[in-house]
Amino acid sequence: PLSQRAAQESLPLRDAFAVLFFVSAGMLFDPASIIREPWPLLATLFIILFGKSLAAFLIVVAFRHPASTALTISASLAQIGEFSFILAEIGGATNLLPKAGRDLILAGAIISIMLNPLMFAALDWLLPRLERRRADVLAPAAPPPAEIRVTQLTEHTIIVGYGRVGRLVGEALQQRGQTFLAVETSEDILKQLKDAGVETIVGNAARGNVLRATNPAGAHTLVIAIPEAFEAGQIVEQARAANPGLRIVARAHSDAEVDHLRSLGADVVIMGEREIARGMIEELDRRPPDTAPELAPQRDAERAQV
Ligand code: AMP
Repeated sequence: PLSQRAAQESLPLRDAFAVLFFVSAGMLFDPASIIREPWPLLATLFIILFGKSLAAFLIVVAFRHPASTALTISASLAQIGEFSFILAEIGGATNLLPKAGRDLILAGAIISIMLNPLMFAALDWLLPRLERRRADVLAPAAPPPAEIRVTQLTEHTIIVGYGRVGRLVGEALQQRGQTFLAVETSEDILKQLKDAGVETIVGNAARGNVLRATNPAGAHTLVIAIPEAFEAGQIVEQARAANPGLRIVARAHSDAEVDHLRSLGADVVIMGEREIARGMIEELDRRPPDTAPELAPQRDAERAQV
């Protein structure tokens, strides 16, 4: 959860730094150098796009990873960035690299970054063909995710996460005789519910095959009762795409998470901390300060039962 939160919160910073990087690199770049020195530039690009990728491919394969993984890593590394600028700077300062070399590195970085999406497009074209021919001899490719049987339920409620929050929602629906289906990563948690005849699915609801099995297109409500907003966001996005009319109620723990889930398509986002505060305020209103102290323990016991 911590790494997911760090990734989520650092996204705006990443965008700001990306803009800064491209503006500063662009200001240093002399476009006329492409016409002035085409051959040295082509050689630089060849080394970056193919030499570096080939080295990365051989290293990954040497560690006995599948060829598909090696190709993905090679495509990711078929470009250079800020680290090469630092090396070029040190090379220049120590007179190991002429100024023309630094210009070539800069031009190579900008052009290779621009060409990188093409490398990934080529990879998308190449990988399925490679897999079909079973050319991956070093290690078998990961098996495709097993399709889970799609529920026959329609007009139902889907509860994602059957922990402290999801269970209370499920019990309320059971009392009202409403049909629901629970999705949980932990099989143990679902055992009791399954024994009670409620349909359950074990798995991570953020995975496409798990969410598809809940039939979001045929459901009327989706309750996302998991604490991780990052995964909850992925679930909201997929469910909204499957059913634009689905009522999505999600759980959050900060204002940023509320905004995130709402922006992805959740109709209502309940922030846990706000509800705790609401409960506390209700309690303060219910028992003003002048309440006789001897009655307080009895009332506390009543509240605990509720
Ligand atoms: P609690 O915080 O006690 O309400 O528990 C949250 C529950 O959600 C736990 O039982 C988790 O196993 C479950 N959970 C967390 N993430 C997912 C997910 N992506 N898909 C399904 N269940 C999940």
